[in-house]
Amino acid sequence: MFRRFPRILRAVPLLLALPLASCGDESPPAPTSPPGDVNPAWPIRVAGGSEPALPFERIVLATIDTLRPDHLGCYGYPRPTSPFLDRMAERGVRFTRAFSQISHTAPAHATLLTGLVPSIHGLVANGMRLDERATTLATLFQRAGYSTVAFYNVSFLDGLADSFEVHHAAPNTGERVLARALDWLSSPNRPERFFLWLHLYDPHHWNKPNLWPNEELEELARAAPRTDDEIYREIALLHGFDDPSVAFWDSVESGRVPGHDHASIARMLRAYDAQILKADRLLERFHDALEAQNLPGETLWIVTSDHGEGLGSHGYFGHTARIYNEQLRVPWIVASSNGTIEPRVVDATIEQIDLFPTLAELLGMSVQGLDPVNDGRSFLGLLTGGEAGPEREVWSERCLLEGEERLVSLQSAAWKLLVHGEGPMECFDLTNDPLELDPLPAEEAPELLASFRSREARVDARALQRGTGAQEAPPDEWLEELKDLGYVR
Ligand SMILES: [Zn+2]
Repeated sequence: MFRRFPRILRAVPLLLALPLASCGDESPPAPTSPPGDVNPAWPIRVAGGSEPALPFERIVLATIDTLRPDHLGCYGYPRPTSPFLDRMAERGVRFTRAFSQISHTAPAHATLLTGLVPSIHGLVANGMRLDERATTLATLFQRAGYSTVAFYNVSFLDGLADSFEVHHAAPNTGERVLARALDWLSSPNRPERFFLWLHLYDPHHWNKPNLWPNEELEELARAAPRTDDEIYREIALLHGFDDPSVAFWDSVESGRVPGHDHASIARMLRAYDAQILKADRLLERFHDALEAQNLPGETLWIVTSDHGEGLGSHGYFGHTARIYNEQLRVPWIVASSNGTIEPRVVDATIEQIDLFPTLAELLGMSVQGLDPVNDGRSFLGLLTGGEAGPEREVWSERCLLEGEERLVSLQSAAWKLLVHGEGPMECFDLTNDPLELDPLPAEEAPELLASFRSREARVDARALQRGTGAQEAPPDEWLEELKDLGYVR
């Protein structure tokens, strides 16, 4: 299954773009990025040459793993799981319709970093490495004179962090990754201009009682007392089910939650919320530590997730095997430290593939080779009061490793098509069936079906064009971790 990628030297300009740490009191002028392609062989090419569109000295991308937006206060959740993110959303831009391209940790992060859907960037499962030719956000920021640094909560994300100058895995709980990030932040040679990716994994651990955060569990119990039955009913109703006792919970089955019963599921749902509160606090601590340094210039904060979580919908608790919208919807909040971004709620659809062209535009770079149908679209204008473009169709997929069923979804605001590798397609009328419970024949949405056919051909052609690079076997450390997390048997 794993073969080695051909080793291709990175382009020389990367080696020249060393971090530029400024030492003066005043904010240094933002450098203009040099012209020229970084990796001409990669499906997206980037040219520089323009002034940055927005003047940020620091960009922090925070990804909180496995985070359903509907469990955050700013997205309407009644339990106080996210006081810090709620405040950030109040002073920033909150997107109500943000979608993941794949409900799988490493491939989704690779999409955030490359702007390409998994079939095209090629990292389609945890344990794989990103193609060494890939142009990532770290590549762009280095070219623009920013230092690039990444701290993440699972070892296997090493497989896509090579393009960051500094990157550290700190597995297990979020405290460990926060400690690494805070150490770096307080180190004497910490640069003032940087792109930093911080990844917290805690919500993923809702089914691991040994990692449950007791303090946050007790705090939520005090703030919003609920019996197990009330928790059941409340969450089922929030997830859209009007008869939770029969239609929802009694149909639950998941290999990842063996031997569950009513009470044990309620405990895990409590734990999911407590893990969210814990991640919210860890992020707040990092935010406050960075702001307390009073560095020159402004910081842009982007908070999102790699994917959602089933939590029982469609009889499934997890995320990897399904791409219903409980797996694909993600929160997306963008805020600035000093008022450049004004508060706004945006209902236009955005996708993970949009982050790359957005930040390229922010840096004054132009992205070339974009497929206007299948690739991302910059949402920079939406951060500064601009109007949304035409409605779009979101492409998502699941693991494409040999021997696994290919599963693709394409959805507009009104319809969703679910295409299985085998068996008939399913089609959902999202206006009348937003929970995707009553599949219809694909012919009910002929325009979406035609669009799928065309897009599938283009995705496949570009994946072929990129070539099937070889993968080296994942190290034992990753395999142990993937086993522990239930991804590898
Ligand atoms: Zn994940």
